[in-house]
Amino acid sequence: MNPKLSNRINAMATSATLAMAAKARELKNEGKDIIGLSLGEPDFNVPEFVKEAAIKAVNENYHSYTPVDGYADLKQAIITKFKRDNHLTYTPNQIVVSTGAKQSLANLAMVLLNEGDEVLLPAPYWVSYSDISKLAGGVPVEIPTSINSDFKITPESLEAAITPKTKMMIYSSPCNPSGSVYSIEELRALADVLVNYPDIIVISDEIYEHINFTEIHASMATFEDMKNRTVVVNGVSKAYSMTGWRIGYIGAPEWIARACNKMQGQITSGANCIAQRATITALENSPSKIQFMVDAFKKRRTLILDLLAEIPGFKTNIPQGAFYVFPDISYYFGKTLNGTIIHNASDFSLYLLEKAHVATVTGEAFGDPNCIRISYAASEENIVDALQRIKVALV
Ligand code: PMP
Ligand code: GLU
Repeated sequence: MNPKLSNRINAMATSATLAMAAKARELKNEGKDIIGLSLGEPDFNVPEFVKEAAIKAVNENYHSYTPVDGYADLKQAIITKFKRDNHLTYTPNQIVVSTGAKQSLANLAMVLLNEGDEVLLPAPYWVSYSDISKLAGGVPVEIPTSINSDFKITPESLEAAITPKTKMMIYSSPCNPSGSVYSIEELRALADVLVNYPDIIVISDEIYEHINFTEIHASMATFEDMKNRTVVVNGVSKAYSMTGWRIGYIGAPEWIARACNKMQGQITSGANCIAQRATITALENSPSKIQFMVDAFKKRRTLILDLLAEIPGFKTNIPQGAFYVFPDISYYFGKTLNGTIIHNASDFSLYLLEKAHVATVTGEAFGDPNCIRISYAASEENIVDALQRIKVALV
């Protein structure tokens, strides 16, 4: 804490995913043989057809500031994608393109939350929801779940968490970090509670939409009685392996989209013009073009679950999407491993980094202190090697 800095930044936690990735990178640079399973980013190259679109955009001299909310033809491609993949109908003034889904989420928190407004976070939740909400003055309210219910909330637990101060709920399905996928029936049951609280805005983070092994993606926004207060957040980072290209977007009620546009106009302006052009091509193509990545993730999921089953003390659900496993490792709490006492998940994750040279992320950052997150967006070879190292470090 530096008193010269604002209270705002002093109160903010560093992103645990990015911090662990930075630490792993630092150790690698020192010559240590680290296997990084901390960061959720596909290890595939950007598909050729997307790269070609970016090169074409450079050669066509795209270089200027874009409209703050995105090129009109990109917004049209997003509208077509929403219709094709999600049966959702939007008009252009309901779409805002941002510098990654992370900015989309930050915009939403900044335009919707007032000081003291409560934000429901089904736990475990993606690491940044909580600090983004706090930055905007919100108060995160975790809705606990358990591994036995596949880390999903129920209508009863949702209802119990709602208070007169509840302004918003943010969740992801497929979920980072648990890999859980809500079915249409499960979402409907949650919507049946929410219809009684018309002032609550739902932020449905669907960035892992295509990495879904159930093959059925459901969205709260498809319910007629929820659409006018549900915001869908999506982007190309995960599905098209475009994490560094930084394009995310929302489909939202018009009044919210307009506010996000206004916010973005003062903070970043429109997203990168070349990445926007390439995103048009990415979205216009059939999702079948990226099926090979989804198939690879599914194979790796089976591999990592099989390998984890051989290590004592790892209790997992069966993730149905995204590319993470989120094992409960509380079995190790209070135990001494090679002279190191494991008090909590952070100690455990650090121990794995130091002794096994495998980077994971503590579950504490995701609102579940009994777990760690392991990303299997890595080669099969690295997964096998990492799990072997973990096994050896734990005996
Ligand atoms: N939401 C979730 C659930 C994520 O895992 C991520 C990871 N990056 C994001 C949003 C942000 O994605 P982007 O790269 O588009 O900012
Ligand atoms: N979303 C990824 C993750 O959870 C990328 C890192 C980040 O943006 O925090 O690891």
